[in-house]
Amino acid sequence: MSNREPITLPEKGLGPEKVLELLKHFKKGDVDYKESRTWSLVYYLGEEHTRFLLEAMGMFLSENGLNPMAFQSLKRMEHEIVQMTAGMLHGDRNVVGMLTSGGTESCLLPVLAYRNLAESKKRLKPVQPEMIVPESIHVAWEKAAHYFKVKMVRAPLRSDFRVDVEAVKKLINRNTALIVASAPSYPHGVIDPIEELGRLAEEHHLPFHVDSCLGGFFLPFMEKLGYQVPPFDFRVPGVTSISADVHKYGYSAKGASVLLYRNMDYMKHQIFVSESWPGGVFASPGLLGTRPGGAFAAAWATMMAMGWDGYLEQTKIVMETARALMEGIASIPGLELMGQPDMSVFGYRSTSPRLSIFAVGDQMEERGWHIDRLQKPDGLHAMVTPLHRRIVDRYLEDLRESVEYVRENPSLALKGSAATYGMISKVPLRGVVKNEVRKMMEKMYGPDMEMPF
Ligand SMILES: *Cc1c(COP(=O)(O)O)cnc(C)c1O
Repeated sequence: MSNREPITLPEKGLGPEKVLELLKHFKKGDVDYKESRTWSLVYYLGEEHTRFLLEAMGMFLSENGLNPMAFQSLKRMEHEIVQMTAGMLHGDRNVVGMLTSGGTESCLLPVLAYRNLAESKKRLKPVQPEMIVPESIHVAWEKAAHYFKVKMVRAPLRSDFRVDVEAVKKLINRNTALIVASAPSYPHGVIDPIEELGRLAEEHHLPFHVDSCLGGFFLPFMEKLGYQVPPFDFRVPGVTSISADVHKYGYSAKGASVLLYRNMDYMKHQIFVSESWPGGVFASPGLLGTRPGGAFAAAWATMMAMGWDGYLEQTKIVMETARALMEGIASIPGLELMGQPDMSVFGYRSTSPRLSIFAVGDQMEERGWHIDRLQKPDGLHAMVTPLHRRIVDRYLEDLRESVEYVRENPSLALKGSAATYGMISKVPLRGVVKNEVRKMMEKMYGPDMEMPF
């Protein structure tokens, strides 16, 4: 039990002014995304765009997408977002879909839909439905497997960090309910062999989802700009669904992703209907009940305001920035990129066991950067956004310095968070790691949670 005074609802409300002050104060402890110090989590285009998002969101702040009959404005926006995205991803007139609350919901729903689909084919009723995913698939799919009790079978990656199609083929059995692959993968930014997997899925009459949460609002523009982009969307015949996050490279406000299906024969398996609830007949296409109108409005408004030319402009900046960073990193002795990233997301690692990449990460943190760590293999991660253009030189300079410093002080590998990350990534008993992290989560959500300020 906690011995601290519990926080209680103020007896007398503090009023908006005081509260807004407090909120400003809270921000001080956060990572500094406005100065482009972060390499994940935020896709920030600047204050002007933020104000625009706020205005669009504010106009529909109270509106609820739960009932599209009551708020036809939201249904219209959702429909148009789906159609525009389907167009970008080369879907035909049969493509259907919905606006979800984010990438995770767009990954959870296809697992549910395809499990239901597999079970609806009575003749082929799987005992324990399975899904085949690349080793590099986003963790949201593991969550989906866990929530919906579908067994997740991981296919190994080739040396270029793309999934081994032969291995996927061998994993297919009568329980397989779906295949998933990424365009591109979150850890390494590489596109799996979508065409080959599409053929495989077709041969076995299996649904095939392409997780393009990162690429959906990026690859179409890259292709238009003349970059090499392998076919990854509905042009590949075997692809039955695609997820694309508007709140990532779509630059919308948080809480918006698009989930598309090739046709209603797939999507219908995720729709929930209750005909006998005392609260009334109820129907819902996704996981949420109440759906925030503000997220619909911000997504629609961003797409309409940006248009092809706006996205092309941002994508060009991001790609030039990413290329400069990748070239710079590859030129630092002791570092190498993980594979050949297909877009603006990438991982890099140490080429020598004597240089701890996690210690380099710690040194970068010391210099004010917020950087994510990769494991299996160990590395550092970057997701490039337009404003990173301003800090390319500073980042590379700091990285060069950090590498030098760690080289001169190899014992740093055994200190600070490098020691923890290094240990975590090497513990052979993954169950031990899982339990430790579980305990950390319980503490973080427990009554004794302590705030740093
Ligand atoms: C971000 C991401 C997700 C999950 O999306 P959230 O919006 O964080 O829930 C899923 N897949 C990929 C490839 C992603 O990059």
